Amino acid sequence: MGLLADIVKQTNGTPPTTIRSFAPATGELIGEVRITPREEVAAVVARARRAQQAWAVLPVKERCERLLRFRDAIAERQAEVVDLLTLECGKPKHEALIHEVVTTLDLLTYYANNAPRILASHEYPLHLMKHRRAYATYVPRGVVGVISPWNFPLVLSMTDAIAALVTGSAVVVKPSEVTPLILQKMKEIYDATGLPEDLFNVVQGFGATGQALIESGIQKLCFTGGVETGKRVAAACGARLIPCVMELGGKAPLVACADADLEKTARAVVFGGFANAGQVCISVERVYANRAIYEPLVRRVKELTEELRQGDPSHDFVDVGAIIFPKQIEIAEKHIADAMKKGAELVTGGNRKPGPGQYFEPTVLANCNETMTVMNEEIFGPIVPIQAVASDEEAIVLSNRSHLGLNAYVFTKDRGRGRRIAEKIEAGSVLINDVVSNYACAEVPFGGVKDSGFGRVHGEDALRDMAEKRVVMEDRVPMPARNPLWFPYGKDSYRFFQKTARLLFGGGKIVKKIGEFL
Ligand code: NDP
Repeated sequence: MGLLADIVKQTNGTPPTTIRSFAPATGELIGEVRITPREEVAAVVARARRAQQAWAVLPVKERCERLLRFRDAIAERQAEVVDLLTLECGKPKHEALIHEVVTTLDLLTYYANNAPRILASHEYPLHLMKHRRAYATYVPRGVVGVISPWNFPLVLSMTDAIAALVTGSAVVVKPSEVTPLILQKMKEIYDATGLPEDLFNVVQGFGATGQALIESGIQKLCFTGGVETGKRVAAACGARLIPCVMELGGKAPLVACADADLEKTARAVVFGGFANAGQVCISVERVYANRAIYEPLVRRVKELTEELRQGDPSHDFVDVGAIIFPKQIEIAEKHIADAMKKGAELVTGGNRKPGPGQYFEPTVLANCNETMTVMNEEIFGPIVPIQAVASDEEAIVLSNRSHLGLNAYVFTKDRGRGRRIAEKIEAGSVLINDVVSNYACAEVPFGGVKDSGFGRVHGEDALRDMAEKRVVMEDRVPMPARNPLWFPYGKDSYRFFQKTARLLFGGGKIVKKIGEFL
């Protein structure tokens, strides 16, 4: 990121002991947190493990009931949380409330209501060993580490933290140094609920603190961030064989078919491209518009973009807020310069706004093509590039050129066509006639393919994966002490198994009958 290097330069080589948080909308200093020293990270993990042992023995239902107190406390203090999110991220209040607070509360509610069922032990009907039975139970892992980014500092930390707590683990979160205050607030709210001390923890710092967390004896890591950091983090986990979930970058294509509803598609492009000022891993990052609607779509996207109100979200109801991390402005400018050099048309926007505060105009580029960085690399800022295509097939091929595969979007009035395209796009999730809403569905698995990472959050499988699966096997029909499958091996028993294998797997009528039975 380079932020630490900049700070060290400013302090003549002395590593900082605190992190200062600045409001992106105004540039004002809004708070300061102490960096957790390396050895203290290990002590936090050790305390978390002790607290977890008493938490782990509680029935899932009881853990869930207790965790609802945390939900209620967040809901009660939602105005305070929304205000802080708006201040520290410069995002509109609607987005702070709906995308972060409501999504967190809903996930906690969904897991609290459903975890006893999802984590209940279940049987595996055995195919060959009919005399045995096997069942799985879901046991707590221990301490789960969470390393999260700055674009949605609340929901991207709490999603993993909630799943860890529900499954009986303790959690230690390392938020991004760009937005350290939100998790500090969550810790304050948690501590006031009377829930067990040391179960929900926050450590503060730069990448080195994340690294220290991985090295402190955690049993699982959930990482959300960029691809390059993700590779380093996955390697560090690999060296210690720590299972990890990697939620990395995205380059979501939006395919606008010839028969798409023009108004709906244009509004989706504008919302999907500029919500959270484009700093969303599932933002609309590139549009492939069929030539039949390309020109009217570009026109309507331009009109709607120019209607957006941008400014300090703490005072007014604005649509687009500030850029959270200043480096994103330079990245946006580089993409635009590269695209213009290669023939793109600047439809609207394109400039940073004068301070105070970090703002970049919502920008639309038309006449784009696949040689441009803006169509290939993650933008993570308020730019929507549009390219004309001749067919659905061309849009699919272009969509799949990317090394990323998180979300994708298809707009068409024909449900069958939408599904056919959706099933051919290489992405973790494809939405038909909608954008970004899947992250708000607590029941639906979310995650990426290709360089967008591996593992899933949300839904039943992610909760089970947060726990450790323990399989127990036992006799259904008691076997004699001299089990024919055990020693001693002999000629007769070998012949018996030979015949049985032929009977079971060798084809023929009798085999079919047994096959049906099996
Ligand atoms: P980074 O990858 O820079 O950082 C993510 C987190 O990792 C931060 O807390 C960071 O700390 C920490 N970190 C950095 N280096 C290390 C290290 N060596 N070991 C351990 N931890 C480390 O991502 P950003 O914060 O810039 O977030 C933006 C990225 O996140 C985008 O690419 C975006 O697409 C992706 N993202 C993915 C989502 C998904 O669900 N798939 C959702 C949202 C964002 P520090 O900040 O102190 O450097």
